[in-house]
Amino acid sequence: MNDFPIVFDGHNDTLLRYLRDDDGFDFFARNELGHLDLPRAREGGLGGGFFAVFVPANLKPRATVNEPFTRGNPPPQRRGEPLSLEYSQRMAFAISAQLFRMERQSAGALRIARCLRDVEEDLANGVFSAIFHLEGAEPLDPELHALEIYHAAGLRSLGIVWSRSNCFAHGVPIGMHPTPDIGPGLTEEGFALVRACNELGVLIDLSHLNEAGFWDVARVSQAPLVATHSNVHALCPNARNLTDRQLDAIAASDGIVGLNFAVSFLHPEGSHDTAATHLETMVRHIDHLVERIGIDRVALGSDYDGTDIPDVLGDVSGLPKLMAALRASGYGDEELKKIAHENWLRVLRLTWKN
Ligand SMILES: [Zn+2]
Repeated sequence: MNDFPIVFDGHNDTLLRYLRDDDGFDFFARNELGHLDLPRAREGGLGGGFFAVFVPANLKPRATVNEPFTRGNPPPQRRGEPLSLEYSQRMAFAISAQLFRMERQSAGALRIARCLRDVEEDLANGVFSAIFHLEGAEPLDPELHALEIYHAAGLRSLGIVWSRSNCFAHGVPIGMHPTPDIGPGLTEEGFALVRACNELGVLIDLSHLNEAGFWDVARVSQAPLVATHSNVHALCPNARNLTDRQLDAIAASDGIVGLNFAVSFLHPEGSHDTAATHLETMVRHIDHLVERIGIDRVALGSDYDGTDIPDVLGDVSGLPKLMAALRASGYGDEELKKIAHENWLRVLRLTWKN
């Protein structure tokens, strides 16, 4: 352990490792590959976070042995193409089931949090606290019957889209772009999904949503605006990052932004070189967020196991290096606590119904 406050994280893609990678991944054992497992989380002071259920476009049940996912490999999905409901449901079941299997096999070391008290207790008791998050609503039927079932099972957070279109909305492509204002806003079904999430107390994640969709959600949602894993467009003009106008809207709604560790969302030129992005660049994004939306609305959203992160961090065990860089640049203990986990708890308190 280290002397930094425990971290709660806005986004990981670690569940995908069970399906995508063929390296015998076990969340409860120490792994050399990938970013996140329980032993390394404990070393890094990570107490839990949002576990994404994301449906890749052409995932095979087993990846080839010779091509395990490693940094620098292109992701297996073809970007931008809509997926069928049948395929998406099947894949989402397979990936979600893995989270429930992990909880069952953990002997109490991991819990799927269903209410704020669960998260608070878990962080206090050293139980790894997992939020069941759907990244892209492809597995939901437009009538939203599946949403009821997912919610009853424990779903507490949902990104309307990943970076592609579905029947609810349109995602931003991932890449350097002068603006995330690409494509139309929410469909009628998308508006119904926002209303249903508000009613159920499911957090709506705006990361990956295009700008027209963002403003539609901002207009109708009754919950704080949340981008679980996005950065500052003014510092790195990737379409996945948030413009200052979007940041202002998040602040006005008392929402939150989780800093994404993806080098291509951090580096000013969008470099994919993991050696070229340093802790100072991450601190600069945090500084901008804090100046623009306030210290109570900034958090972390690593994107572990879903992206390429700076070499200097390596994996989750490197988290204290980021905390140390923030401390060295002037963030005090109370501020670090907010960024580490208190701000996430604040937004969950405002968003969840239980
Ligand atoms: Zn993502």
